[in-house]
Amino acid sequence: MPFVYFQTFGCQMNVADSDELKRKLEARGFEETSCIADADLIIVNTCTVRQNAENKALARIKEFSKLKKPQCLLWVTGCMAQRMGDTLKDAIPGVSLVIGAKEIDNLDSIINEHLIHSSFYNQEHHSHSSVSDYITVMRGCNNYCAYCIVPYVRGDEHSIPVSTILDTIRARIDDGVKEITLLGQNVNSYNDNGTDFADLIVKVSALDGLKRLRFTTSHPKDCSDKLIRTIAETPQCCSHFHLPVQAGTDRILSIMNRRYTAKDYLNRIDTIRRYIPHADITTDILVGFPTETDAEFNDTLSLVKQVRYTTAFMFAYSVREGTAASRMTDDIPKQEKLDRLNRLIEAQTEITKEIYDSMIGSTIEVMINGRQDKREKFWMGQDNGCKRILVTGEHFNNGDIIRCSVKRSSGMTLVCDTQ
Ligand code: SF4
Repeated sequence: MPFVYFQTFGCQMNVADSDELKRKLEARGFEETSCIADADLIIVNTCTVRQNAENKALARIKEFSKLKKPQCLLWVTGCMAQRMGDTLKDAIPGVSLVIGAKEIDNLDSIINEHLIHSSFYNQEHHSHSSVSDYITVMRGCNNYCAYCIVPYVRGDEHSIPVSTILDTIRARIDDGVKEITLLGQNVNSYNDNGTDFADLIVKVSALDGLKRLRFTTSHPKDCSDKLIRTIAETPQCCSHFHLPVQAGTDRILSIMNRRYTAKDYLNRIDTIRRYIPHADITTDILVGFPTETDAEFNDTLSLVKQVRYTTAFMFAYSVREGTAASRMTDDIPKQEKLDRLNRLIEAQTEITKEIYDSMIGSTIEVMINGRQDKREKFWMGQDNGCKRILVTGEHFNNGDIIRCSVKRSSGMTLVCDTQ
């Protein structure tokens, strides 16, 4: 049996693409390995969203090209592969195939073309065992936010047909999956011949055996009342919205090309809170965007304190070649960006702690997703929102949903007992 080793960098879309590739390779007789020395095929799924991400991926690919068995294939996939193309093969001679992010829809023919004549190929089927899975429902992005490389490397938005999505999820449920996360760069703009994202949620939720449904990422300008209402009315939908705000002031939002104002954004938050008062809302924030003043940064800080996100991904701006922002002067000194980032992280960490602490004594439903490696008396899980949970208990099955009492909080994790 041939072995494949995966290294995945970047976002959940990349994780989903790696999972897709894994399933297709498993169906052709491959088994995943965690040992490079055993691998017959190494796949590095790359990210290009920041220069740092590319540097890390390039360093790993170079390392793999030296460590791998001589006959082992080395494939590079994803966004950096799209951006660099076959120049990667020139830069790192051990690379045998480059599959760009835009080619992900053609994986079957690419795999067949490159593996069908090798001794690796067969048709044996292996099923997927995890209880949670990601399903990509749309790819690409038309938004061209000024700082973002994604539209250039992932291409224009296109939605995967409803029937394909439903068939794929049915197959995953048959394999034991209980929780699905619908993925896309901007899932809210999903449209398959008039079926929008809210309609898709209703259709997916109707599938027998699905216990939980999640989705990411949402663009605030496309997060409609209809979608929020649908999520509120659909019991399988988890109460978590990841709604990237990026900045809290209109001038910066405008030059970022986000196409909403701070007031529009806060209006979306009010609507979510009206329909789903207990929802976890999380976000992405970029500080130190070109020309951002300290007063504008303070507006972002005020918005964060007003919304009270459960958690946030917070970054200091850095130039990404090829984006609209790369033509602006990166005029905020590095130390100033880091100071703003630290002030933001400090404020958000305090809010996160307060939200987690406020849950002590409450009853929550937790989906179990495995035993904790380090302390075996704990099982790991997730509540109906985005919070990570540790539960004490003798035995659970992955995918069980259990009622728990929250005993204490460690700031980023809730520790619970079963009821
Ligand atoms: S919505 Fe903006 S930030 Fe998100 S992928 Fe598209 S261009 Fe990038």
